[in-house]
Amino acid sequence: MAYKVTLISGDGIGPEVSMATKKCLEATGVVFDWEEVLAGSAAIEKYGTPLPENVLKSVRKNKVAIKGPIITPIGKGFRSVNVALRQKLNLFACLRPAKSIPGIVSAYSDIDLVIVRENTEDLYAGIEFERGQPNTRKLILTLEKLQEKKISHDAAISIKPISPAASRRIVKFAFEYALSNNRKKVTAVHKANIMKFTDGLFLETAQRVAKEYEGRVKFDDCIVDNLAMQLVKNPQKFDVLVLPNLYGDIISDLCAGLIGGLGVAAGANIGKNIALFEPVHGSAPKYAGLNKVNPTAMILSGVLMLKHLGEFEAARRLEAAVIAVIKEGIYVTYDLKKIRDDASAVGTQEMADAICKRLR
Ligand code: NAD
Repeated sequence: MAYKVTLISGDGIGPEVSMATKKCLEATGVVFDWEEVLAGSAAIEKYGTPLPENVLKSVRKNKVAIKGPIITPIGKGFRSVNVALRQKLNLFACLRPAKSIPGIVSAYSDIDLVIVRENTEDLYAGIEFERGQPNTRKLILTLEKLQEKKISHDAAISIKPISPAASRRIVKFAFEYALSNNRKKVTAVHKANIMKFTDGLFLETAQRVAKEYEGRVKFDDCIVDNLAMQLVKNPQKFDVLVLPNLYGDIISDLCAGLIGGLGVAAGANIGKNIALFEPVHGSAPKYAGLNKVNPTAMILSGVLMLKHLGEFEAARRLEAAVIAVIKEGIYVTYDLKKIRDDASAVGTQEMADAICKRLR
């Protein structure tokens, strides 16, 4: 039976890494019935919106989706389609494994971490007030009445909601993931020393949830700035990290750097009964259409999808093929060559073809 899966190619380098991923997934022998839908810049041209309703409808129906990256204009234009998808589909958990791949030159060769990022709240909730707007002024005046600190009247404001329910849900997800994947420890990451009410609540909730898992999974916590330093100096001491949205975003890229860069970092967004798989990296517009970037991050997101579908043998074979091609170091993209401008680097599709060949 074919798996009906929504495929969102995205924009920038999205269509290229999506095409590469599609052929690798198909080369495993698992049969897919792709439902391809447009989001991002391509959707604006056709539908006048970056996130047409048919995208959400398709994912809700199929329950499984894989997507390439989508651009988010900085400081203007439409809000992030990536964030909107996670929020509208209630994909509350973002799972980002960071595991060293043999053959990749990096500061460490023994990284094996999992990042669990909360996806629905925090400064990412999109509750923002623009500088100089009447509502912003009203908010500032109200805030000045409610507490003693002065706020510059020409300030812009972003709101950071952190709730007990969403915190509990994500921390429980991290512990359940740890249990079912034979992980030993969960570390809650926060800045509760400064943000006593929001991050304080996240930490307090995490400590309470940890008690339910006592004796089965270890627990500790770490302040986010200290974590950033420790991850660079001694990453082996961490196992599963659970973080609020913004810290999760930043630390994911740091961990991608630990395993060799954004070109190899895979991810999944998971809700109650819907899962959407996507690489950690963005749409890298300067490389769009050049057949140059590394398809690994999205292919490994496809491996996560195969596991989610219960296709464990296909997942194991595809992951092994990716590792073999990278270890051999011949049919790999520029970012995986020891010298960056190595003329023997191959393109996105050629690397995917080499992976497909390994599968046969
Ligand atoms: P980016 O991840 O797109 O690229 C940063 C750099 O990382 C690139 O210039 C490139 O050097 C490297 N890189 C990224 N992907 C690579 C790959 N597959 N192979 C080799 N090298 C790769 O980050 P950015 O430039 O900050 O963001 C570009 C756009 O993507 C922005 O609009 C941003 O909002 C968006 N974005 C989208 C997502 C998503 O779709 N989930 C995630 C992050 C950023």
